[in-house]
Amino acid sequence: MATVPPFAPWARASKAANRVKAIKLLLLSTPVAPLGSGLGGGVELTVANLARVLVQFGHQLTIVTPEGAQLGSLGLLTLPIEIIQVSGTLQTAAQSTSRATGRNAPVTVSEVLASAWTYARCNQARYDLIVNFAYDWLPFYLTPFMTVPVAHFVSMGSLSDRMDAVIAQVSHQFPGTLAAYTQAQAGTFCTEVPIDWKILGCGLDLRQYEYCPNPDNHVAWVGRLSPEKGLEDTIAAASRAHQSLKIYGAIEDEAYWRALQPAIEKATAQVEYCGFLSTALLQRSLGKAKALLVTPHWVEAFGIVAIEALACGVPVLAYRQGGPAEIVRSGKTGWLVRPGNIAELTIALRKLNRLNRQDCRLQAEKLYSLNAWGRRCERWFYQLTGALEN
Ligand code: UDP
Repeated sequence: MATVPPFAPWARASKAANRVKAIKLLLLSTPVAPLGSGLGGGVELTVANLARVLVQFGHQLTIVTPEGAQLGSLGLLTLPIEIIQVSGTLQTAAQSTSRATGRNAPVTVSEVLASAWTYARCNQARYDLIVNFAYDWLPFYLTPFMTVPVAHFVSMGSLSDRMDAVIAQVSHQFPGTLAAYTQAQAGTFCTEVPIDWKILGCGLDLRQYEYCPNPDNHVAWVGRLSPEKGLEDTIAAASRAHQSLKIYGAIEDEAYWRALQPAIEKATAQVEYCGFLSTALLQRSLGKAKALLVTPHWVEAFGIVAIEALACGVPVLAYRQGGPAEIVRSGKTGWLVRPGNIAELTIALRKLNRLNRQDCRLQAEKLYSLNAWGRRCERWFYQLTGALEN
């Protein structure tokens, strides 16, 4: 990493000097896709929900996102949130780059990522805190050069050595500024100097998710259609169990989707692709599923679709790794099976009647309320702006 100033001015700010109640926050969303497109994955809903709850708490919010945001899809249209849309080429998703290069992924800076940070640098005096959601090198590199604090909500597990190094550097220089969703996600970063993570989990506005006690006779899969999400395992298990399946999500990788077609055609029960739906429509359809299957081939940082399913009363069948393994109570709100084990997944599909849909909704209410998650994030932001002692 290049030479950086010995300190960021905000790192020395007196803790008591800036005891704010309402904070002015600048959220820099993923540069991979516009908000509401579905191609940015769960981080889109994370940004939208965080903005929604912080506005409810009385804070002032600005979100920077690539041009073409579909705010209605995430229920953001009517909220008093300033949205800045930046134009230009999108950032390639880190998981796509790492598929080609392994852990040696090069640093890339797209026009939207550069523009987002130009906006942040030129307008930082308007804000108390900048919150970065991009899993990219540039925001970490720029952190010491900013005059206001920068918090980083890291949305993925470790994928590249360069990212690990720059994240560890920021953690060392600015302890307390990094957050992850889960312990499992944080555990994927094996750096020489341990990273100082805040584990924040996630939350949903449960009023947006209706409990559905009586499902139809199909199971569901929800997510970006991309190789790391492992849809083929779900198709294989559903087919072995003669179980019909509905698929929801944006097609990120056309070639991957085409490669799945023979398995879909050969399946022993109907497999239907329903497209990408807004949160409001998704929860209505997802609620009718007998179960949600989560079968990723990578360590899922969280798996927000798992808590969306629970909120609708839908049990979750997932691999015992990553975020979903910290969410699902195996035998109560779903079943956890060994990663990649289609036979165990098929058996789990036959044991759905042992699970109680009300328990699923109750778990969501108990552990994943937007309010509780928002307060955790708010406390973190207060700490970083010097409004709280610890
Ligand atoms: N999603 C959606 N409509 C759909 C399918 C998916 O809004 O039709 C959203 C879903 O609500 C979730 C995201 O896509 O917010 C998928 O996130 P997840 O954390 O499961 O996976 P990621 O894509 O981040 O790896």
